[in-house]
Amino acid sequence: MRSIQMVDLKSQYVAIKAEVDQAIQGVIDTTAFINGPQVKEFSNALAAYTGAKYVITCGNGTDALQIAMMGLGFQPGQEVIVPAFTYVATAEVIALLGLKPVFIDVIADTYELDISQLESKLTSKTVGIVPVHLYGQCSNMEEILAFAATHNLKVIEDTAQAIGAKYTFSDGRTCQAGTMGDVGTTSFFPSKNLGCYGDGGAMFTNDEKLAEKLWMIANHGQKKKYNHHIVGVNSRLDTVQAAILNVKLQHLDRYSASRNQVADKYDAAFAGHPNVKTPVRAHNSTHAFHQYTVQIEGVSRDELKAYLAEKGVPSMVYYPLSLHQQVAYMDLGFKNGDFPVSESLCLKVLSLPIHTEMIADDQEYIIETIKSFFE
Ligand SMILES: *Cc1c(COP(=O)(O)O)cnc(C)c1O
Repeated sequence: MRSIQMVDLKSQYVAIKAEVDQAIQGVIDTTAFINGPQVKEFSNALAAYTGAKYVITCGNGTDALQIAMMGLGFQPGQEVIVPAFTYVATAEVIALLGLKPVFIDVIADTYELDISQLESKLTSKTVGIVPVHLYGQCSNMEEILAFAATHNLKVIEDTAQAIGAKYTFSDGRTCQAGTMGDVGTTSFFPSKNLGCYGDGGAMFTNDEKLAEKLWMIANHGQKKKYNHHIVGVNSRLDTVQAAILNVKLQHLDRYSASRNQVADKYDAAFAGHPNVKTPVRAHNSTHAFHQYTVQIEGVSRDELKAYLAEKGVPSMVYYPLSLHQQVAYMDLGFKNGDFPVSESLCLKVLSLPIHTEMIADDQEYIIETIKSFFE
């Protein structure tokens, strides 16, 4: 019996076991578990890799979003525009800080926030926009940044799913996901494209003052030990995780290439399929393929999902509910029908297994099994 997984972290580990084990043992040997030298080493390496001037590591991707908003000085009662179709973390930190999440619908093809609706979401309280580079592809940053500049808004890029994706502006300039807005945030959750072996996160910025502030907030608001200048939080990247990430960062390009190979194969297999709509590639962004998400048309997505499960093919629904349909956000007063594109995507999307160690034969089986549902 085959054992196909959405993400095969075990095989990925086995392939780099010697390097990873040595890195972990190195931390244990020195017992510098908190803020050991590997943390700085990793943030420097990630800055070099992404082209961001400053990388501030922290405890996880959700904290990164929260610290970014604290660092930018967002105040309770102010409003932040966020896509309705995303992981809950993006909106959660907005609510947690006493700000108001203002949902905006997304574009059905690329899942990015619908720029044409930005204007209608503006109020005198709007302070920021959080584009989410969902599934691994950059949102239209050129237009988002231009809109933000016109209206004096901050931009926080949620890059948890798109590390390494490259965006090209109309003047030919190319930037990595997370390095274009005021702050970019990412997550090193194990299944993310650059995943550690626990929780981890980081922020990117090109602003030196802001970088210092973000670092302080993540470290109890201290400038130096026991000197606390602002109210902060405790959100650090473990040294063990940083050591693992130092190893894995060196493989990231290869990992992205593997994911793209898997994606290309799915694309070819389902090209023109009447019921399985393959991902639309944005013209100005490369794709990191954190997820390979198809849209199921004409049949029940859930019946297909159940059929696949029976045949040993896992699949996932990211996400079954739009944020405005979540119980926690009901008090914002939205109702069904308010975000029709998001709502319809929740019924259609299906993410297929994609990871760095996909065996060709397994992918063939996944493709044939999906096709057999329609025969
Ligand atoms: C994973 C993820 C996060 C949160 O990251 P954690 O490290 O799990 O806190 C935030 N936003 C998006 C879009 C994500 O996919």
